Formats: sequence, structure tokens, C-alpha cells
Amino acid sequence: PGILYIVPTPIGNLGDLSPRAQDVLSSVAAIAAEDTRHSRQLLQQFAIKNDVFALHEHNERERAAKVIERLQSGDSIALISDAGTPLISDPGYVLVQQCRAAGVKVVALPGPCAITTALSAAGLPTDRFTFEGFLPAKPQQRRKALSALLDEPRTMVFYESPHRILHTLKDLQEVMGNDRSLVVARELTKQFETYLSGSISEVLQQVEVDSNQQRGEFVLVLAGAPVQEFAAADEQQALRTVQLLRQHLP
Ligand code: SAM
Repeated sequence: PGILYIVPTPIGNLGDLSPRAQDVLSSVAAIAAEDTRHSRQLLQQFAIKNDVFALHEHNERERAAKVIERLQSGDSIALISDAGTPLISDPGYVLVQQCRAAGVKVVALPGPCAITTALSAAGLPTDRFTFEGFLPAKPQQRRKALSALLDEPRTMVFYESPHRILHTLKDLQEVMGNDRSLVVARELTKQFETYLSGSISEVLQQVEVDSNQQRGEFVLVLAGAPVQEFAAADEQQALRTVQLLRQHLP
């Protein structure tokens, strides 16, 4: 049987398509792509001449069955999306789930992803984090989604589009307050890569005054809710333990 390869593609810088990704894309029987025109252009840059067919959110369910048949007949297939890692705010979940259910081997290559790129340079805690994808487009739902995250202690990562960046930053300020640390990572790996960091209100101001900062692709990295109260409680608990131990030790 064939293998379904999940192949990340660059999020801007073509140099980020790994040699292994190039090998897999050249050697599989066919490539399933979110947007065939877009992906053919990418493949052309690497002189990869391979069969490309469409697998996007609107046809994924019906295509999956056919792809699985093909995999079971012995062809290996690579799944790519327009940019970055497939399945991460991109199609592929249905196909992978069905491949697993059908006992088809799935192999994922590591590679470009805007989450890890932004997070690793943001300077906010990375020991634990939560990826929230795109916030709802409608203001009321967006604020509701943000309110539900008010007490989230982990660093939060959001994707955002240029149309909504300003609205989302304003909602962040309204719901989370002025002072939380925020990093806006823009145009990662591209010519105008920028990191804006500071408190929510500082970052909002920087984006508001400079319309260039409202262009391109964005990852928002937001500090988790402060946990000082818990830390203080832990410290008290530790002190009490030490006192107790002292009583029992010589
Ligand atoms: N699968 C992709 C990944 O692995 O990151 C994400 C696809 S999602 C449809 C597109 C969103 O990812 C953009 O709206 C933006 O939030 C984020 N993104 C992708 N490329 C980016 C870049 N070069 N700089 C900043 N954000 C980016």
C-alpha cells in the first residue's frame, strides 16, 4: 500500500522547503493541493513535475474516499496546502482521519508553520501554549470567544488576517485590558517580517498609527493570565511544609 505524506511548504521564504520535502514531492504518484494553481507555481520553482489535484475544504470529504482507494492500490500521495503545515488552519483533517480509520500509513514531515515560528521568537512563555486558530469574524462572537479565554494561564496563539487585525486588537484590549503582554508577528520569513511587542495597548497603538503594520499575514501571541496569586499560595504552602518538617527533625 502507498503512504500519505503530509508535507509542509514555505510560509514565505522558498528556502524553507526542505530537501526531504522536495524528495517526497518529486517521488510520490500525485500531490493533493488546496489550490492547484498556487501549488503548481511553487512546484515549478523547484522543477518538480508531478501530478497535482485539488483537495480543499469544499471537496475534501468526497475526494478522501478516492484518495484512499488510490493509496490502497499502491500509490503514495503527498498532501500540501497553500502555505505552511497542512491541517493547521488548513484542509487535511478529514483525509488523515479516514486514512487512519482505513489503516493507511500516514507520514508527516516537519516543516514551516506560522505558530511555531512566531512562538519561538516572541519571547513569551513557551513551556505550555494553546493555539486558538482564527477568532470568529463577527465582533460579538469574537469578544465572546476572547472572554472565554480571560483566565487562560497558557500563552495563546491566534491567526489573523489583514482585514480584521485592527478590530481584533481593539477587542483584545477591551476584553483582556491594557496591560497584558502581546506580540504581533507579521509577514514571517518574508521581506517585511516585523515583530511588535509590548502591552496590548502599546501594540494596538503601533498598529493604529502605521497602516503598513495592518498589511500582510499575522500571528498574535498573547501572554496567559497572570498566575501570581497561585504562586503566592504555593509559596505559603511550601513555608508551612518546611515549618512542619522542622518540628519533626532533630
Ligand atoms: N497552515 C499554515 C501554517 O502552518 O501556519 C496556516 C494557514 S492559515 C489559512 C493562514 C494564516 O496563517 C494567516 O492568516 C496568518 O495568520 C498565518 N500565517 C501564515 N503565513 C504567515 C506568515 N508568513 N506570517 C505571519 N502569519 C502567517
